[in-house]
Amino acid sequence: MDLYEYQAKEIFAAHGVPTLPGSVATDVHGAKAAAEELGGPVVVKAQVKTGGRGKAGGVKLAETPDEAGQKAEGILGLDIKGHVTRRVLVTSASDIVEEYYFSFLLDRANRNFLALASVEGGMEIEEVAATKPEALARVPIDPTRGVDEAKAREIVEAAKFPADIADQVVAVAVQLWEAFVAEDATLVEINPLAKDDQDTVLALDGKVTVDGNAAFRRPQQTELADEGAQDPLEAKAKAKDLNYVKLDGEVGIIGNGAGLVMSTLDVVAYSGEAHRGVKPANFLDIGGGASAEVMAAGLDVILGDPDVRSVFVNVFGGITACDAVANGIVQALEMLGGEASKPLVVRLDGNNVDEGRRILSEANHPVVTMVDTMDGAADKAAELAARA
Ligand code: GDP
Ligand code: MN
Repeated sequence: MDLYEYQAKEIFAAHGVPTLPGSVATDVHGAKAAAEELGGPVVVKAQVKTGGRGKAGGVKLAETPDEAGQKAEGILGLDIKGHVTRRVLVTSASDIVEEYYFSFLLDRANRNFLALASVEGGMEIEEVAATKPEALARVPIDPTRGVDEAKAREIVEAAKFPADIADQVVAVAVQLWEAFVAEDATLVEINPLAKDDQDTVLALDGKVTVDGNAAFRRPQQTELADEGAQDPLEAKAKAKDLNYVKLDGEVGIIGNGAGLVMSTLDVVAYSGEAHRGVKPANFLDIGGGASAEVMAAGLDVILGDPDVRSVFVNVFGGITACDAVANGIVQALEMLGGEASKPLVVRLDGNNVDEGRRILSEANHPVVTMVDTMDGAADKAAELAARA
């Protein structure tokens, strides 16, 4: 989960990383009041979970509270790369002398953590990496040792931070690492890390991505979740503990096991080419122990998607054998009653497949079509979606 800039800065501040005071407003009046409270010039900043806000007109300087209100009026509602601005951060402005870049991130390719730092901050770091790779220091972090002062100094030297502010950046690095660990983050980024006219180093922007797999041990993060910005079907699935991702096609997909579901998406997308280009509508892995309740919950989410025109249930019986899955499907359809009105193509294979297929044939539910092979079933589901 990505956090908003204002949330990232709250986390930074809690760990001692220097930031400037500010508050969030959702309307012009609030922005004015926030600027009044802060006093002096402010920066009004769109709070959207994407970068490049400055270039898109989402970051504006204002000298007075009235001007802050005007800037907020222009920024609220602004669409930045598909993200509509619903709130602004009003924060004290500073006189920037230099802009740097600093981040820690999970380096999946090297199964390690990585520090990235550069004295060429402000612009997008991908651009620095592409045009001036020598200006971007990359320092691997041993996860068992983390970032102490010595490691921080190594990063600061590798990036060639100016001597007069090196100690401040060392302190920021140690504190930022603490935040990274304390939040189970996969990214903490400061761009720009700025030097102001008092030679003070400050985080003027912040980005934090937290690892959803660690959410269970970070109760403090539940209030950071942004329900309004979440897809309603994904929210419903999450409430039912389902691994669901909404996609933009028409064929609903349910399978057991992430690998099987991934390949089901591929096969359906391929079959869809011959059927008016229909595509998978979602990813949904109901896992190994597919009980009737889980199957019903999954079908309920998928059938609630107005884009879905057919559903492909692709199950390979393993520890939970096909007969149990077939019973699950039958019971799930009973539970859903009239809700289950879209065509359902079921492919069962694996452990106890004959009994599973017998149970489904016997139930003879009007929306269910059984197809024995994965390719055949994908083609049938795509055909039904194209026809509906
Ligand atoms: P981004 O474009 O989404 O990365 O948003 P940033 O928060 O990084 O802001 C973009 C640019 O606006 C920064 O690189 C700064 O040059 C400028 N900026 C942001 N905050 C301040 C501030 O307090 N004072 C001044 N003078 N400029 C700022
Ligand atoms: Mn930035």
